[in-house]
Amino acid sequence: MKGPNYSAAELLARLVRFDTTSHRSNLSLVRFVEDYLAQHGIASQLVASADGAKANLYATIGPPGVAGVALSGHTDVVPVEGQSWTSDPFVLAERDGRLYGRGTADMKGFLACVLAAVPDFLKRQLAVPIHLAFSYDEEVGCLGVRPLIAELGRRLTKPRLVIVGEPTSMSVVDAHKGPVRWHIEIKGRAAHSSMAPLGANAIAVAGKLLDELGRIEDELKRAPRDERFDPPYATLQVTRIEGGTATNIVPVSCQLDFDVRALPSVDAATIDRRLRTLAERDCVPEMRRVAPESGIDIRITNEVPPFAAGSASEAVALALHLAGQNETHAVSYATEAGLFQEAGSPAVVVGPGDIAQAHAADEWIAKEQLDDCMGFLGRLAAWAERGAAPR
Ligand SMILES: [Zn+2]
Repeated sequence: MKGPNYSAAELLARLVRFDTTSHRSNLSLVRFVEDYLAQHGIASQLVASADGAKANLYATIGPPGVAGVALSGHTDVVPVEGQSWTSDPFVLAERDGRLYGRGTADMKGFLACVLAAVPDFLKRQLAVPIHLAFSYDEEVGCLGVRPLIAELGRRLTKPRLVIVGEPTSMSVVDAHKGPVRWHIEIKGRAAHSSMAPLGANAIAVAGKLLDELGRIEDELKRAPRDERFDPPYATLQVTRIEGGTATNIVPVSCQLDFDVRALPSVDAATIDRRLRTLAERDCVPEMRRVAPESGIDIRITNEVPPFAAGSASEAVALALHLAGQNETHAVSYATEAGLFQEAGSPAVVVGPGDIAQAHAADEWIAKEQLDDCMGFLGRLAAWAERGAAPR
């Protein structure tokens, strides 16, 4: 079967036209990709979201049932609301060798390159298959890829290696921090503030938790540093707080959110346990003496595992080989790499475009970045054809 040949820039123009802002459906883009692959004789497998409004797409080129290399990218983009764009963010515009549009860097540029490389993948007798793994809802906490990963080794062939094509300007990234977000709700009892002993003050209890969070933040800062990251330690920030009813009422409730950007060496579960212990041992019994209905609810609302490939990673060795580089980098933004790695598929991050342009107004990708990525994918195809060891 001979399917259509398009350049990466032509495919990028098509992909940008689909408004796949995370809160919207990505199905029109998925159908476009499914149809494009079908024209090349490649079957797609979809993993739909619970409400059916979105889907992940997984497709294999080369021998079926063999582990192979997955090229992973997300189909969703961040909103353009409140940003001032020179041209329509959903129409690709070329100015001075740059391609402008929402998602050009993050990360439809990579998806376009992968799709443009499909005819080359097909032309070869791949000994090692190449899988396409396109996800939804990455920008809202790497949510969409989780049901896809859950199907690996079941309905979908589990890859031996995963290349996540987030924008790294085609340099090889082998580590990133992991964002973890908590939501805490404290319920006390209201009383007239002149009769304070009859109430259980939720804000006062929040103060105790804030003290502990401050101590944890200090400890994270003083822990052994990893100078490859900026900043070179894990951060903890209380990002939102809300509580109380009026100046003369003992506050019945207080809620707060905090965020940890964990280094690969930091275990979020330890922080979670420490906070729960403080709440259950030092706060709740005291509140319940006055108000048996009171309590503290501590919940992790989103957790993306930090990523560290490790020095022996086959994925990193292959990516360095294909990119013609000998140095790896660490970044502070999160990707799906940690989730793949956690599920037993060694991952690496390398993709076209600069993270500095991601999420910004007038997001763009340099045309040379697409060319560089096409070169990388061509070398991947040659390597997969030989079925060679990574080095
Ligand atoms: Zn991204």
